[in-house]
Amino acid sequence: MPPRRPFRGSESPGASRVVSAIMALILNRLPLMPNMAPWPCQPCPHFMQLITDLLVEMVPNADRASPDFKAMLGQMPGGAIACPYCQGAVEYKADGKTLAISARPPLRYSRAKMEMRATDYGRQMRPPDPAMTPEQWIAEEKLMPGALHGYVYVEDLTP
Ligand SMILES: [Zn+2]
Repeated sequence: MPPRRPFRGSESPGASRVVSAIMALILNRLPLMPNMAPWPCQPCPHFMQLITDLLVEMVPNADRASPDFKAMLGQMPGGAIACPYCQGAVEYKADGKTLAISARPPLRYSRAKMEMRATDYGRQMRPPDPAMTPEQWIAEEKLMPGALHGYVYVEDLTP
């Protein structure tokens, strides 16, 4: 009786590669989904810098209950956010895709949240860079170099 061949040899290597790719995708993506913000990936209507991510989740938690925030998250007119480059107010058009210049007072990011995100990202780098700034983070992870320079965060506004 011939010895049994290792079972691995008869499996389809393609199928197991697909399964591990899907698993990797799920494991990498799942934690991000609850906070996933609209990713417009389109130019700012003011000065045309490419916005890959509006980062709506970076506004203060207190703003999340506002109709403006819900409009931004739902990609609907009715709320604006300050462009991460030029800080001009941008708002979704009724088509749910295109960003337009808005006359509304825009939502702004929280400095505390943005710095935490940059620090977290920096700590995971090899070698770690816990001093990473929001400007560096948005350039590296979001491919938006030049964004957040001189940004006026919610904490900077005078009440
Ligand atoms: Zn802009």
